[in-house]
Amino acid sequence: MSDYDYDLIVIGAGSGGVRAARVAAAHGARVAIVEEYRVGGTCVIRGCVPKKLLIYGAHFAEDLRDARQFGWQVPDCQFDWPTLRDNVLAEVDRLEGLYRNTLGSHGVTILPGRGTIIGPHGVRIAGGQDVTSRMILVATGARPLLPSFDGAEHGISSNEAFHLDDVPRRIAIVGGGYIANEFAGIFNELGSAVTVINRSGQLLRGYDHSVRDRLVEISTRKGIAFRFDASFEKVIKLADGSLSVQLAGEDAFSVDCLMFAIGRVPNSSDLGLEEQGVEIDPLGAIIVDDDGRSTVGSIFAVGDVTNRIQLTPVAIREGQAFADTQFGGKPHRVDYRHVPSAVFSHPPIAFVGLTEQQARDQVGEVKIYTSDFRPMKNVLAKRDERALYKMICDADTDRILGLHMIGPDAPEILQAAAIAVKAGLSKAAFDETIALHPTMAEELVLLR
Ligand code: FAD
Ligand code: NDP
Repeated sequence: MSDYDYDLIVIGAGSGGVRAARVAAAHGARVAIVEEYRVGGTCVIRGCVPKKLLIYGAHFAEDLRDARQFGWQVPDCQFDWPTLRDNVLAEVDRLEGLYRNTLGSHGVTILPGRGTIIGPHGVRIAGGQDVTSRMILVATGARPLLPSFDGAEHGISSNEAFHLDDVPRRIAIVGGGYIANEFAGIFNELGSAVTVINRSGQLLRGYDHSVRDRLVEISTRKGIAFRFDASFEKVIKLADGSLSVQLAGEDAFSVDCLMFAIGRVPNSSDLGLEEQGVEIDPLGAIIVDDDGRSTVGSIFAVGDVTNRIQLTPVAIREGQAFADTQFGGKPHRVDYRHVPSAVFSHPPIAFVGLTEQQARDQVGEVKIYTSDFRPMKNVLAKRDERALYKMICDADTDRILGLHMIGPDAPEILQAAAIAVKAGLSKAAFDETIALHPTMAEELVLLR
């Protein structure tokens, strides 16, 4: 019999932690999971899932407008935010219940409360209970980065955006990344006057310039305003509850809501990590090896707290690899090449592999194939909105190095195409595939 209470204690019941706990338990380990807020973590409770549901909800605004061109007599529809918000939150509750059931049915003990590490094998649960374990997995995720300038405390983060009382009449969203562009699309469709405030001159750093530029063009046409190369001087709360935003060198303007989406920082502080000798990098990420092991042999970490790629499927893969390797006798590691990614902006963007610039830097000569087209549905809807697909190939081998798309359903299409890119296929393999007509995806096998 082991001297420890458990074989594994996981701190954080989010994407990575739940997967690791469930799989380790299925492999026969005695597992407990510590959670200070809600089971499911960021993705389920205040990330991917409620965000995607809001996007579905917001998209009806455009669909209802388009429907008239397809012969539907659409009366002036009213949108009711509390209905959408509360239905989304109810779905989140339902999913949390499923996550709890899954953990329970695998025999994982849920320990509610904040966990801190008090030894290489010890965890303290807020309130005083101490538990021991052969291994500890830190899966505490990340939290919104908040800026510090005069009046910044009047802003919200994505955490609060899901609980607003009303759709703000005017909202300023700070940042140019995933969350800023996704929420800009949501609030714009729901009728807010949206201003995106970005510190540099470009959105979505790391994305291919062609799709990035197309998103700015379409977003601008949809009425989203952009303030590039902007820095805050101050924000003042006015008597009527609105906020006066003062950017350096510009006239002040008023909004009803200010939302920060300027990145997420790993939840590694006040966990007792440094006291045990666990090394943390300057950005707050727990430093781990290829097996997720920290600088202390019995302490591991997965997911956003390691700040590698902050995406749910990556955290899940890391949790799975950890559990299989440590408890299942099936050692394997996560392959971080060709991780597909999407911004659920309006329209969405998706990509896998290298940008044009990265490809040129890495292999030298590349061939670029693009399709810049107006989807059939947009034509009939009189929607002047073009999709763009771009394939980047190694000029010597024809192998696909990157695929970038912006347009309706781009993430759905790219998920399938990413299999081909990961498998190392060449453009010739796409050319040999007969088109499935009429679809938008057929453009991928017709690229010239
Ligand atoms: P988390 O899921 O964040 O879980 C960490 C858990 O640890 C939390 O439940 C937290 O309460 C708990 N915790 C923290 N500290 C302690 C402690 N000391 N004691 C006990 N419990 C603790 N990714 C995608 O792939 N696709 C998307 O569309 C997408 N959309 C997103 C939208 C938004 C608005 C946000 C914010 C994120 C989105 N993400 C998306 C990112 C995704 O949510 C994260 O990458 C993923 O949740 C990380 O999983 P994790 O297990 O590392 O951490
Ligand atoms: P991102 O890293 O995507 O973008 C952050 C943005 O904020 C960038 O434009 C960045 O500018 C800017 N920024 C960074 N620091 C500051 C600062 N101090 N002041 C002003 N601006 C700043 O972060 P998000 O918050 O949008 O999302 C966090 C992560 O969550 C994402 O990286 C992603 O991994 C994950 N996520 C994934 C989603 C998906 O898969 N669809 C959806 C939502 C989140 P610069 O470019 O100059 O650095």
